[in-house]
Amino acid sequence: MAIFKNTVKNILLIGFLSLVLVFVFLTIFSKADLRLLRKTIGTDSFYSSNDPKNLFANINFFDTDSKGIVPPKLFKESLKPKNHTYRIPVFMYHYVEYNQSEEDFLRDQINIEPHIFEQQILTLKKAGYTFITPNDLSDILKLQPDLSESKYAMLTFDDGYSDFYTDVFPLLVKHDVKAVVFIVPYYLDKQNYMFSWQVKEVVSSGLVELGAHTLRHKYLLGIPIETVQAEVGPCKNWIEEKFGVEVTSFAYPYGVYDDAIVKVVQEAGYETAFGTDLGIEVSNDNKYTIKRIRPGYAQGTGLTGFIDNL
Ligand SMILES: [Zn+2]
Repeated sequence: MAIFKNTVKNILLIGFLSLVLVFVFLTIFSKADLRLLRKTIGTDSFYSSNDPKNLFANINFFDTDSKGIVPPKLFKESLKPKNHTYRIPVFMYHYVEYNQSEEDFLRDQINIEPHIFEQQILTLKKAGYTFITPNDLSDILKLQPDLSESKYAMLTFDDGYSDFYTDVFPLLVKHDVKAVVFIVPYYLDKQNYMFSWQVKEVVSSGLVELGAHTLRHKYLLGIPIETVQAEVGPCKNWIEEKFGVEVTSFAYPYGVYDDAIVKVVQEAGYETAFGTDLGIEVSNDNKYTIKRIRPGYAQGTGLTGFIDNL
């Protein structure tokens, strides 16, 4: 009888323990809180959504909450604070047009004919590049996502020439690619430069972002710091008020700067600034002296090979 009693006791005990185990198991794996899961598989692998081996690649855990589905953002925040150095080719253009004047040699030197520009867009698209703007780049630098599986590039246009509207913009629309144009307020509505209504139109397309390039295209080296301040900060405010946009990027006229000029740009509230030196790496350490690439007439493997070797 005693043996029978013990057996019943043991069965009850085993049954109870099994229930506890099932309860614990269900609690861990059915709850929406995936902290444990996140810890187990690590943040980096969690976000590398292009990795087909990643079991969780196509499941978006973080954009769903009790309020419903939140539209996905282009970039996701890395949960581990990092300072990545990204390889993002930033292309620099001035004129893109069919030069009307054969004597205008200077213009020819910085001009790229529209069909070449179009081939460059096609080359980069075919190579898997997505085009971003400085605002996107600011997001990347703030959020520090893992972009090891992605390719991003940027098209930048200095000065705001009229051919940006007549030759560049139609190609941006045709191929649905984004770009930034660095505006000089003093040049607007003057011969050879865009009219204000043209700037408004390109901005309203959603493809073109405006950046600042000083009020008067001033050579900033060797002038009083007050003059630098007067050219840099007000340029941002002027463009923002005139066109109702947020301006977060700046391009140094003639590509010249020193530490004091960089500080003025930073203090004026810009988030990124671009020079003209050759380079491809972008990080929080050089976001006020970002290097660019003059693509020249390179296209096809000539262009992609050049980028890959930088
Ligand atoms: Zn310029």
